[in-house]
Amino acid sequence: MKQSSYENYIEKIVRQELNRRYEDDKDLCKCDVCYRDIMTLTLNNLPPMYVSSDVGHIMTMYHLTKDQLHTQVMVELLKAIKQVKNSPNH
Ligand SMILES: [Zn+2]
Repeated sequence: MKQSSYENYIEKIVRQELNRRYEDDKDLCKCDVCYRDIMTLTLNNLPPMYVSSDVGHIMTMYHLTKDQLHTQVMVELLKAIKQVKNSPNH
């Protein structure tokens, strides 16, 4: 049987959006420590959603639209960025 691969869909969105913030927000520290802190803070406040391949399926299961999910991710991401900016771990 073929081994399935899983990924946390939420983590994927967070990473994409964080990379976008790095481009837009020149004040945001781009070091590994801050990156990890922002990722963990954000992900700890969001439910993990593991998907194999069919993303549409998970949306149906959670009764969420892609927009709703992105909005939720952005709220937590911006909170985490603010927190790390105010007190960077270095
Ligand atoms: Zn930093």
